[in-house]
Amino acid sequence: MSQIENDLETSRLLRDWYRKHKRELPWRESSDPYIIWISEIILQQTRVVQGMDYFIRFTGRFPDVASLASAEEDEVLKYWQGLGYYSRARNLHTAAKDVMERFGGVFPNQYKDVISLKGIGEYTAAAIVSFVWNQPYPVVDGNVFRVLSRLFAVGAPIDTAKGKKTFTELAGLVMDPQHAGQHNQAIMELGALQCVPQNPDCEACPLKERCAAYAAGDVQDYPVKQHKTKTRDRYFYYLYIIYKGKTWLSRRKEKDIWEGLYEFPLIETDKAMDFAALQATDAFRRLFEGAGRLNVSVDLQGVKHVLSHQILYAAFYRIEIERENDALNAFLPVARGDVEKYAVPRLIHIYLEKLGGNLSE
Ligand code: SF4
Repeated sequence: MSQIENDLETSRLLRDWYRKHKRELPWRESSDPYIIWISEIILQQTRVVQGMDYFIRFTGRFPDVASLASAEEDEVLKYWQGLGYYSRARNLHTAAKDVMERFGGVFPNQYKDVISLKGIGEYTAAAIVSFVWNQPYPVVDGNVFRVLSRLFAVGAPIDTAKGKKTFTELAGLVMDPQHAGQHNQAIMELGALQCVPQNPDCEACPLKERCAAYAAGDVQDYPVKQHKTKTRDRYFYYLYIIYKGKTWLSRRKEKDIWEGLYEFPLIETDKAMDFAALQATDAFRRLFEGAGRLNVSVDLQGVKHVLSHQILYAAFYRIEIERENDALNAFLPVARGDVEKYAVPRLIHIYLEKLGGNLSE
């Protein structure tokens, strides 16, 4: 890597290309660090097209640090609903309160202060201080990994600490510090639009003449990854329990997916099972002991819900009970028509959409 010097021409080509080809996005022209922060956190987990609606809704309701800091967590989660990775919404909320307390409500402009906020890592801190104040911190995200690994034919695996360090150094060498903000946005945009994972349009690329992978004809070999992501299978059986106009929810508390969100009573098993097998489990028996005759129907089954490291296989059963029993005291009783008011995971939302608002019938 020592032979790669700070290459201002590469940065200039990138910025020229960016000015002509960048997408017009609502946060792009903003110089408000709060707006940049929210957009970056949303875009970490969703594509720009889908993220746009969430961004507009979220910043419409919480237009600044103060409004976010003073909101109830439940409302913040409700506005995040559908984006997944709810810990990011909770971190945003915590960090907004922190900005109010430690920085008098003014978003800090020093990298060390920005990165001290909950949920802000190296990437987001660099994006905020470079986009807003043109401070010379290089951003390194998936798009930047891809562009740099191809441009310099670097085979260091991007999913190792050593590889990340290599690419962060390289990103700093390529960046023109006088134009850090625009350079960072340009290299990310090139990765998003031009140097895409499959079949990049190298012929139209501004860096074609200087791209080592293109010259060698092995663009598809980059970036290199060491590990394949391990996934875990989980089996979720949700019970939409009905007694008169009521149903029951519970709030996820454990350090697990969807912390703080609401869901119907859940029986999780380590293998797939049909309803007869589910009924025979201790968890099911305990839950319905003393509830009388059960009137059961299968509302939705065979749902496969893919998260970043887990695959959930889910089914939803509607179960009308004859009597309220003691086991239900562990849950939150809710009028059936009010379920939509609670922040729920996407999986539950899919079910509610299928019911089409017929919850109170
Ligand atoms: S020439 Fe192709 S591989 Fe190289 S940076 Fe451009 S788009 Fe990526």
